Amino acid sequence: MTTFDFFEAAELPVPAVSAEQAAQIAANHFGLSASVSPLGSQQDANFLLSTSTGEPIGVLKIANPAFSRAELEAQDAAAAFIDAAEEIRTATNINGSSIVEIDAGGNHFARIIRFLPGAGSNLAGDGYVRPAQVAALGDLAGRTCRALAAFDHPGVDRVLQWDLRHGLRTVERLASHVTDPHRRETVQSAATAAWRVIDGLAADLPVQVIHGDITGDNVVCSGPHALPDGLIDFGDLIRSWTVAELAVAVATLLRHDGCEPSSTLAAVQAFHAVRPLGPAEVEALWPLVVLRAAVLVVSGIHQSSIDADNDYASSALDHEWRSFQRANAIPLDVMTAQIRHSLGVSHPAAPVDGRLIDGGDVVVLDLSAESDLMDGGVWLERDCEDRLAADALAGGAMAVATVFGQGRLTRSATLSALSPATVATGIDLWPAEPLTLTAPWPGVLTVDGDSLALTGTHATLVVRGALRPAGEGGHSVDAGDPLATAEGRVWIQVRRPGAGDVPPFVRPEYAAGWLAQVSDPGPLLGLPAAPGLADDSFALRQRRSQAYAEVQEHYYDHPPRIERGWREHLVGTDGRSYLDMVNNVAVLGHGHPALADAVARQWRRLNTNSRFNYGAVVAFSERLAATLPDPLDTVFLVNSGSEADDLALRLAMAATGRHDIVAVAEAYHGWTYATDAISTSIADNPNALSTRPSWVHTVPSPNAYRGQHRGIDASKYAPEAVAIIESLAAQGYPPAAFICEPFYGNAGGMALPDGYLKAVYEAVRAAGGVAIADEVQVGYGRTGRWFWAFEQQGVVPDIVCVAKAMGNGQPLGAVITTKAIADAYRTQGYFFSSAGGSPVSSVVGLTVLDTIENERLQENAVTVGDHIVARINELATRHPLIGTVHGSGLYMGVELVRDRVTLEPAVVETAAICERMRELGVIVQPTGDRQNVLKMKPPMCITRESADFFVDQLDRVLTTGW
Ligand code: PMP
Repeated sequence: MTTFDFFEAAELPVPAVSAEQAAQIAANHFGLSASVSPLGSQQDANFLLSTSTGEPIGVLKIANPAFSRAELEAQDAAAAFIDAAEEIRTATNINGSSIVEIDAGGNHFARIIRFLPGAGSNLAGDGYVRPAQVAALGDLAGRTCRALAAFDHPGVDRVLQWDLRHGLRTVERLASHVTDPHRRETVQSAATAAWRVIDGLAADLPVQVIHGDITGDNVVCSGPHALPDGLIDFGDLIRSWTVAELAVAVATLLRHDGCEPSSTLAAVQAFHAVRPLGPAEVEALWPLVVLRAAVLVVSGIHQSSIDADNDYASSALDHEWRSFQRANAIPLDVMTAQIRHSLGVSHPAAPVDGRLIDGGDVVVLDLSAESDLMDGGVWLERDCEDRLAADALAGGAMAVATVFGQGRLTRSATLSALSPATVATGIDLWPAEPLTLTAPWPGVLTVDGDSLALTGTHATLVVRGALRPAGEGGHSVDAGDPLATAEGRVWIQVRRPGAGDVPPFVRPEYAAGWLAQVSDPGPLLGLPAAPGLADDSFALRQRRSQAYAEVQEHYYDHPPRIERGWREHLVGTDGRSYLDMVNNVAVLGHGHPALADAVARQWRRLNTNSRFNYGAVVAFSERLAATLPDPLDTVFLVNSGSEADDLALRLAMAATGRHDIVAVAEAYHGWTYATDAISTSIADNPNALSTRPSWVHTVPSPNAYRGQHRGIDASKYAPEAVAIIESLAAQGYPPAAFICEPFYGNAGGMALPDGYLKAVYEAVRAAGGVAIADEVQVGYGRTGRWFWAFEQQGVVPDIVCVAKAMGNGQPLGAVITTKAIADAYRTQGYFFSSAGGSPVSSVVGLTVLDTIENERLQENAVTVGDHIVARINELATRHPLIGTVHGSGLYMGVELVRDRVTLEPAVVETAAICERMRELGVIVQPTGDRQNVLKMKPPMCITRESADFFVDQLDRVLTTGW
């Protein structure tokens, strides 16, 4: 039997079969009358056959004449084998083993392959691929290998350019087609370097039949999360290295927007979980990815040169070059070490021995996110490292040294879509006086300007900076010999044998790989070994779920560990910063020094309870009351929004002697017994609507975008609510109060319909009840144009509740009402909250009000908020997913819909967009009863530059996928 040999017959133009001919083949050989549409392929001619009503029948494949019947039989048999063995939807031959020889000029075989539903949803193109899809692809490849391990067939022993066992030969054979000499040279040398590693491991790499082409084009996706779960096109089926199946899948991922080598590790882990990789396979994987990427570049160029009409092949060229560049962006040994780490099979290296300096007291300079030295945004100042070191030296130390392997906050950058290089692969040292550096081990010394290297048997020491070398270098030295004098700041790195150049700082995603190339120089300075970069976010989350009730949920499935904030930025322990678009409570921004200082001062002076006579509680109550119109002049201080709303309900009940409450549907008011009872937001409690106690009555959610009444019809909500209140009164249940957010926060920050509160407040008062405004989220200047959101409606409530912003995150809440209503509480007993209105809480409250005023944050809410809304409105002209933008000031919501007419909520999309935004350095979360609104309520100090960063990233995600 003759099977194909690429090196004998390199030219494989696609069979020239027209759609008309394909229709005839379907009719004559398979008895099918079908409509035919061509599908792309690199070497076969493929046509989708459909019924007259458009139902797919199958895919007619006319194989390239270079391939024998046995090869096609092997492919169909392998598809059937996988279909039987694994839960993988597989493109099997729909006529059993039927393969017919057709007369299309030469050796042409045709067959009809099952069409897999979902084929429209594959991972083709270069759009973003989610981590879950990446993992599913690895899992699919792993399960394919697991199934095919027991498969064999004579038709698999052929020589294909896609068999990575011939990868270098293929690159060498086809490289001449790469016309750009730089690209040609780059591809050849990368393939050669990869081959060098692979060749040394080849004898230990298991071989079996593999699909050989598990790429974005050859998988199909299904389910709500569009995970790849089906496999098509067995045309490259071959006996090869098992690990090549994974290498092919990994290489295909690299073409996608935002995908880099580290993003593919989820696929490697998933493959490993199904079909564990042996030690040689782990070492060979990345070189194989590089080789595959090189083969794709040369094959793509070759194919488009011999088959100029094949659009499919030529459109792939850019993708292939991009994948190749990405595969080579990280050195092979670094990426391999990173893979080992991600699979938990890395080998720790022994620490280095010897002394670089003689005795003395070296002080450690902690530049991590958790270091107190980083307070007040110091990390963003240029030269802060030198200044902090000088401060530390002023304390009398002989020298100051940074920490090896630390994610250095001073190397972070705000507003960065790509994580910055923060992890230190060496140590910086500042001596107080010129300091002699001695050889920690014997070796060969080289000196080059302000840099020296001492190469010993077990490690190479590299020192750079303010150095005066002891000699010329170029000779051997003994341990203890003087190397140089450090006259100022120097940088020290210890490289392991064989390591190439290691940059001083690397990105956290590759830290494990890079740190495997170096050792901690700390012990050479007499310092204890550094802990290294601990990615403990996962361990922390596990501990959290043990100790902290899980019903207190956390953002994200895999949340970063955030230990610092500054203004509108949050920073992870690896030094990665995120733009915070959700912390509405931190109005002033994170880590505000004025607040921290005021609190610290007050704590040192006095903190007690409001039964004592001290000034802060009076001053704060006066200040708060002064922000409100008459007759709201009497203040209660509590600790949270729930407490404030709960107290407001009790005040209303006390003042009216009634028990019934009217609330707006789809709202949230708190977690206490009473505030939970009046909350009907199903996002917070899925059973909310069915579990209301009898004293709670709701009026329809006045949502002018997607509620019962939309647009100008929204004016109907007020009379409806009025009618409900009147009918309650008529039935003998006149309400004690009507409570609602005066700006509809829970729906994503929507203004209430004009005149709504005026009508409803009048009705509730006419029925003898009171009007409560829940300003917990929307008050305190957040809506920009108004300090209190009820001002937007031109009304004055009887009771106002506030919290959140009041304390900038310190537990603080207040109820402000009339003297008469406040006095009515006497009928309930007396009121006391142990920490409510304490000196510290009151000082917090005063400082927050001062800072909002001094920093003109309410004005900023208008300027930046308007800018964001304008920019999102522009995005909406290009991205149909954006239904609308709600909000005012810095209380906004972007409502995402699948259809602007039906308003079908884009729920899965919203969640996925939030996940990708985090990858790009933005924290944004879904909100609303349908979880399809991106809530945007950042700290009110947010700058226009940060706002632009947010919108730019959103644009990118909406353009390239989520
Ligand atoms: N009312 C509204 C409108 C709220 O948004 C919240 C909190 N999300 C509360 C009350 C309860 O506030 P807290 O979480 O401070 O108890």
